[in-house]
Amino acid sequence: MTLGADIPGGGPLYCPCCGLPLDPGRKRFDVSFELPDPVRDLTEEERARRVVGERPLIAVRNMGDFVRVLLTARLTGGYEFVFGCWIGVPADEFEQARKIWNAPEYSQLVLHGRLANEIRPWTGMLGAPLTARPRAEDELPYVEASDDPQLQRVLEEAWPHSEIWQSWSWLFAPPKTENSKAG
Ligand SMILES: [Zn+2]
Repeated sequence: MTLGADIPGGGPLYCPCCGLPLDPGRKRFDVSFELPDPVRDLTEEERARRVVGERPLIAVRNMGDFVRVLLTARLTGGYEFVFGCWIGVPADEFEQARKIWNAPEYSQLVLHGRLANEIRPWTGMLGAPLTARPRAEDELPYVEASDDPQLQRVLEEAWPHSEIWQSWSWLFAPPKTENSKAG
C-alpha cells in the first residue's frame, strides 16, 4: 500500500513497507475500545440489565467494576499509538475513583487493575495485572507498569511500526467517496 507516495509536489507520503502515513504533523494515533471485552460479549439486553454507570466508570453486576485508562505504545520513527481501553479494578478502588474523579485528589489516584481488552497485535494480555495513575488532571489515568512481561514490554519498547499499523490501519484509512474513479 503506497497510496500517495508518487504524488508530485508533496501530498502525504506513506511508508512503502506498510502504508503508515509519514506525516511529521501526525505522530499519534488513537484507538478507542468502547467497552471491556467481557462486557462487549454480553447481549445488548444483558448489558442494559447489568451495566450501571457510564463511561469512563462502569460497574457490571456479577462481573466487576471497570475504569477507562490510556495505554501508550511507542512505535519506531517517533510514532505512538494511544489505546483508550478498560481495566477491571477492585471494588474499593472503583469507589475511590468515582468519589475523587472530578476532585483535586484525582491526581493522587492509583489503580491496581487487570487489562480488560485484548489489544492487537499482541496476544495474551487480557487480564494482565497493571498499575495505572493520572498524569494530568483532565486526562484518563495511564497504564504505567505491569508484572506481566508482555505488557511491560509494550510499555517500555519502541515497536516496529508496521506490526502495529497493519493491525489498525483500517481505522485510519482515508475516506473513500462514491464518485472516486478508483471505484
Ligand atoms: Zn512501514
